[in-house]
Amino acid sequence: MPGMKVHEYQARQLLAEAGVPVPASRVVETAEAATAAYNDIRGRVVVKAQVFAGGRGKAGFVKLCSDAAEVRAAADFMLRNRMVSPQTGPQGIAVKKLLIASAVDIAKEYYAAVVVDRGRRRPVVMVSREGGVEIEVVAKEKPEAIVKHWLHPHLGLLEFQLAQLVAALGITAKEQVAAARKVIRGLVDVFYKYDCSLAEINPLVCTASGEVMAIDAKMNFDDNAVFRHKRLQEMFDPSEENPMELRAKEHNLSYIALEGNIGCLVNGAGLAMSTMDIIKLHGGEPANFLDVGGSVTAEGAVEAFRIILSDHKVKGVLVNIFGGIAKCDTIAEALIAAAREIGFKVPVVVRLEGTNVERARTMLKEAAIEQLITAGDLTDAAKKVCAKVA
Ligand code: GDP
Ligand code: MN
Repeated sequence: MPGMKVHEYQARQLLAEAGVPVPASRVVETAEAATAAYNDIRGRVVVKAQVFAGGRGKAGFVKLCSDAAEVRAAADFMLRNRMVSPQTGPQGIAVKKLLIASAVDIAKEYYAAVVVDRGRRRPVVMVSREGGVEIEVVAKEKPEAIVKHWLHPHLGLLEFQLAQLVAALGITAKEQVAAARKVIRGLVDVFYKYDCSLAEINPLVCTASGEVMAIDAKMNFDDNAVFRHKRLQEMFDPSEENPMELRAKEHNLSYIALEGNIGCLVNGAGLAMSTMDIIKLHGGEPANFLDVGGSVTAEGAVEAFRIILSDHKVKGVLVNIFGGIAKCDTIAEALIAAAREIGFKVPVVVRLEGTNVERARTMLKEAAIEQLITAGDLTDAAKKVCAKVA
């Protein structure tokens, strides 16, 4: 649902093109290139890991440096260590790219963002004087410190809203008001132009010399709109995506990686949710879910098994198919093909219901697949798979 992501350096590019001031910077992939970039920028710089996760500052992956040796050390550290933050999961993520940006003297940190408010079916601009690293805490404990203006889907940001947003930041000096207006206008422009689901600047800063600048940016885009933005397609970085999610996407399957040890193969997002709920109800934890969708072919379903079984966390699989458009016998055929081809090294509990279910059950019975367990209904299936992995 969040959609395609880009790196901070790419989000900065899009903002800069929309007239939002950002500090000069370079992107590098080695510690040598980091020092070379430093020698071009000079002065004080900030070395920043470019990864699809926030909380970098606290994790030690945003470092202020004042000379080439410090830059090299920071770059070395970030490229050699996986970053672990509350947004990454305990295994962390590897860092392949670094941003070397001219550092600014911060007088005040603010927050500004545009997201889709699904409840109100329109974008909402949010600003706060309490910017910086802890905006989630502000949202929770002091929601009144975040000022919101909802945008008309077609009219966009209106003048009075812009004026009120800037006032809400407490910015009153004439040049700074003009600069802050430009930033918020630019942020909203990027949001509309590129079909964002989120465009965020945190922190937006006033510098000691009175400039208003974006020094961190995050953007997500609606996957269904990426086809019409060549620019975004060029920015897509497959190396940052979960490899199994990518593989699934290539086969029109949707795969979501989770933390537990039960793989789930389902058809339909609603069924996926209820399957995960019932697994949790019976004490299990899903490792992933793979939604084969309505119009799955046997080949697609076999690929789905390959993906699920290649996840080493998976100690058991729950197949929960409601045969509507996707027929139960198609799934049974795929199960048999997958068992022959890859072999089931972990128990696979199967619950099938719906179109051609009788034929499917006969096929499975005749195939006599080792490790394949059939279940009478969903509760039975959940209990069986939870017992197997316990
Ligand atoms: P995040 O932790 O992943 O959100 O990374 P940010 O880019 O937001 O950086 C975290 C924090 O580092 C910011 O809130 C600032 O306090 C600090 N920081 C980042 N860039 C600069 C800079 O150019 N100058 C100064 N003084 N601090 C910076
Ligand atoms: Mn930030």
